[in-house]
Formats: sequence, C-alpha cells, structure tokens
Amino acid sequence: MLIRSTYPINNEALRDLETLASEYDILVSTEVDYNESHTKNYLKDAVGKKCRFCNKGFPEVKFNSVAHAIPEFTGNKSLIATFECDNCNQYFSKFENEFANFMLPYNALGGVKKKGNKFPKYKQDIIVYHPIENYIHIDNFPQELHPDTNGFDLILDTPSYIPNFIYRSLIKIGLTLIPENTIGKYQDVLTWLMDMSSDTIFPASMFFSIFPFRNPSSKIRCVLFTRKESINREIPRTLLVLSYQNFSFQTFFPVPFSENKGKLIPFPVAIPTSLDLNLNLAQEVAHKLIDLSKIERIKGEKAQFNIKSLD
Ligand SMILES: [Zn+2]
Repeated sequence: MLIRSTYPINNEALRDLETLASEYDILVSTEVDYNESHTKNYLKDAVGKKCRFCNKGFPEVKFNSVAHAIPEFTGNKSLIATFECDNCNQYFSKFENEFANFMLPYNALGGVKKKGNKFPKYKQDIIVYHPIENYIHIDNFPQELHPDTNGFDLILDTPSYIPNFIYRSLIKIGLTLIPENTIGKYQDVLTWLMDMSSDTIFPASMFFSIFPFRNPSSKIRCVLFTRKESINREIPRTLLVLSYQNFSFQTFFPVPFSENKGKLIPFPVAIPTSLDLNLNLAQEVAHKLIDLSKIERIKGEKAQFNIKSLD
C-alpha cells in the first residue's frame, strides 16, 4: 500500500485497515458536508412515499417531516431520507435526543462548527458553560488560578441519557444509509429497531474515540462494513463507524440468534478514521468503551477535558 501524506503515518492504524479489509467489504460509505443546508441530498427508494421502517405508505402515514439521515446535532443539514414517515421520524427522535444528550458536553467544547466560527481559544479566559444554549464562553482567564500550568481539567455535567437509545440511533443511521437493493437482508434488524421492548442477543456497546479538538475532520462520515462470505471467525456481520468533528463511534449491528455461538468478538478491529492515520494526533486520542445495553436512564455522569493554553 502506497500512501502519500503531509504528516507521519500511524502504522498501527494502517495494520488495522489491512485486517479490516481482509475480513470485511465496504457496504456503504457516506460523506456529508457540515451545515450545507442550501444543497439537499435526498435518499430515495424506488416507490415514493412508502416508509422503509414501518412499511406503511401514504395516505395511511404522512411524509411532511424532514427526516435527517444522520442526526442534526452532528452538523448534518443536507442528507435527508424521503422513505421515513412522520410517525417513525417521531419514534426515532427519542433515540436521537438521548444521543445528543450524551454528546452535549463534547459538542459544546469541540463544537459542531457554526457558520464562520472557529473552535474556541482557551487562552487567558474564564469559562462559562451554557448547557441549555449549548455553547461555551471564555473571557479573561485569571492566570493566578492556574499559575504553574498552561492547562487545566474541565469537568462538565452530561445530561441524563438512555444508553440503549444511543445504540438504536446508530443502527437507525445504518439502516437509512443501506441501499434499497440490500435492505431486505436486514429485515431482522429493522424488526428489532421498531420494537422498543426487543432486546439484543449480544449486549450492545460502542467504541467512542475523542480526537484533539484542534484538528476537526472535514466531513461527517458513516461507513458500514459487511463480513466477507469466506470468514469463519465469530465476528459481527455488519460493523458501523460514524464520525464527525473530533469524534468517532464504532458499533456492530444486532447479532442474529443463529449467529450467536457464544464467542462473538464484537470489535474485531478498531476501525481507523482519517484522523487515526495521522501519528501526531493518534498519540492524543482518548478511547472509551461505552456499554449501550441498558435501558435505564444514566444520571449524574461527567465528561472531563484537559484544556491546554495555545501558547
Ligand atoms: Zn414509518
């Protein structure tokens, strides 16, 4: 593999890519620009006004809501699904709200870029965090509070969230992006998604990576990988990676009963994003394995950040 880059390459990430390519094929790869609201991109199925999720059609169900293929809190304004009815849109918004709650402190700091905004400079400033307004204000940071450091730890409250709904939100994104000619193979996953009481056979989780805020990714990306036919190793049939700004999430589709032989490896490889390939950044990435199996609401969680002076 020949790669030209302007930064030192992280060879570990390259090896992970090779492992991935030996066991999986790319099923879908989607890229979205941030806040490109003027150019909409509509995902369509062959039959118009028929819902991919509940299978109902107009006029039994309506299609008036704008259904974002990837949640709006990631910065997606342009990729819209036309095959999601208003009822399902409302049902899925419950899941997305929980995902947005979980990400609120991260988004407030790393920031989904608003138009013209650059990431905040943490330099000689005081921080006021507005969880409701979803922004952070820094003004005249008093050096005497932290005289001997050029950085400090900032601990923000995470709003309460339901872990399993984050999983459902991720899988719903995947089911939206899968091409119509393949979606039939995922009927079991669609059925699971539409039934709030259904559990997964294998406990849900995600691999959450936080990259340094100074280098946000240029696009929102979602890639789905499907296991090659020839693979006998007990690994998930479908993997999903979503990334935006400085964050990436890796998870796996619910495992069918027939495939659960008790030794499943849910994360056969840590799938590298474009940011992982840069060795300079890779050394500062934080990874967290998040349990998404619980339907009980998690309260009182904190998110910790290390803020460094730009000097
Ligand atoms: Zn529907």
